[in-house]
Amino acid sequence: MISLMESLSTYMVPFNIFFPETDLLRSGNFFKVMRGEEELGVFIALELYCPDPGCDCQKVLIQFFEVINQEPRAHASLSYGWESIPFYQKWGRMTKKEALEMKEGYLEPFNPQLQYAPQLLEAFRSRIKEDPQFLEKLKLHYTMVKDKISQKEEHKKNVTPFRSRI
Ligand SMILES: [Zn+2]
Repeated sequence: MISLMESLSTYMVPFNIFFPETDLLRSGNFFKVMRGEEELGVFIALELYCPDPGCDCQKVLIQFFEVINQEPRAHASLSYGWESIPFYQKWGRMTKKEALEMKEGYLEPFNPQLQYAPQLLEAFRSRIKEDPQFLEKLKLHYTMVKDKISQKEEHKKNVTPFRSRI
């Protein structure tokens, strides 16, 4: 598990770290890579979110891990955002091209991308188009993470004045 965690991005945090009760095997986040009728691999998509309570980035980082071999390294890492193109242009000062990539989902250029990365990106894009519930889940998880972090921040605020009086 340590090697899995080490291989993850240090900035984005896996959803299941915030919500350890999450059952990844029941998450419905499975993606198959096929060649015709042949199954080349089954991958689980781990969702990672930005842990900054003041950041309204409206995106997810997805890392794909092979289910059968259980190798600790991610096969592919992609970013995806569900907001509008103007939103990303404004928020991230992205160019229109970059904002468009964000909305389509793109493979992260600084993360290792293995053999099936292009197929996994395609599979992800199709899932987004064909399965509205999948997209709603990503948005919900984003909100859950942000809510949990701001609750923690609120808690800190409430605790500090009390301590300072002692
Ligand atoms: Zn953010």
